[in-house]
Amino acid sequence: MIQGRDEDEGCCCGGHEHDASEDCGCGSHEGGCCGDHGGGCCGGGCGHNASDDQIRMFIVGPIETDCYAYVSEGECLVVDPGNSGAAIARHLEDVRVTTIVATHGHGDHVGGAKALRDATGARFLMHEADVELAGRAGEASELGRSYDDDAPEPDQTIADGDVIELGTASFRVIGAPGHTPGGIVLLGQGTADGVAFVGDTLFKGSCGRTDLAGGDHDALMATLARLREEIPARTTLFCGHGDSTTMMEELEGNPWLQPGAASDGMH
Ligand SMILES: [Zn+2]
Ligand SMILES: [Zn+2]
Repeated sequence: MIQGRDEDEGCCCGGHEHDASEDCGCGSHEGGCCGDHGGGCCGGGCGHNASDDQIRMFIVGPIETDCYAYVSEGECLVVDPGNSGAAIARHLEDVRVTTIVATHGHGDHVGGAKALRDATGARFLMHEADVELAGRAGEASELGRSYDDDAPEPDQTIADGDVIELGTASFRVIGAPGHTPGGIVLLGQGTADGVAFVGDTLFKGSCGRTDLAGGDHDALMATLARLREEIPARTTLFCGHGDSTTMMEELEGNPWLQPGAASDGMH
C-alpha cells in the first residue's frame, strides 16, 4: 500500500514498503526505506540527519533578547524567555514545553518566564546565585528598564556539571560567572552536540559587560578562559542578543578569547 505518496517528491516513507530493487525515487538509501522516521515525506531524498531536533528563535522585549526553543522528540527546552511568555507559549503549542532555563537572572532574560511557565506547566531552572536578581525583573533595573514580570522561584536550581535532558538531546551546565554571579552556559550533548546557549557571557566579537550589579570582570575573564577549553571549535554559539556565531570564529577573532585577554567587555 502506498500512503500519501507524491511521485514528484521522491520517497514518502509514509507507510509503504519497498526494497532496494524497487525504485522509490529516493536514490540515496539501500535496502528498504528509512522506516525510522514516522510518517511524512522525506522530500529531500531521505537525506535526513541523525536527529530531527530543531532550534527556534524568538526575539523578545525592548532590548531584543534572543529566546531559543530547542525541540527534540517533541520535547522542548526554552532558554531565556525574556518577555512575552504567553506569546512564546502560543508559538510552541505543537510541542511539549517541559523545561525553561534562564542563562542568568537579568530581567531581559527572565521577564517572560512566569507567563510561559503558567501557560505550559514547564519547570523553571536557574542558578541559585541569580535567583534574587531574577525575582526583581518586573522592577526598574539600574538601567531604568523593567520587564513583563518578576521571575518565579525556580522549581529547581542548577549548577556547574548538572545535565538537562530532553528527547535525545541533553545540555551540560557550565557555571559562567562574571556578567552576573549565577550565569551559566548550556553545552549540547547527544543530538544537541555542536550547540551551545551562551547567554550574555559571550557575543560575536565581544563579551558580556561587567559594570552592572553583581558583575565581576576577573570572574568573567576566568569564565572565558574556561570556555576556550571546554567548548569545541565546531560548536555554534547561540547568544543572548544579536547573531549566533561559532566557537571557531570567536577563537580566531574575539579579543576576549585570546590568551591573556583582560579588556573590558562591551555589552
Ligand atoms: Zn544580561
Ligand atoms: Zn541580556
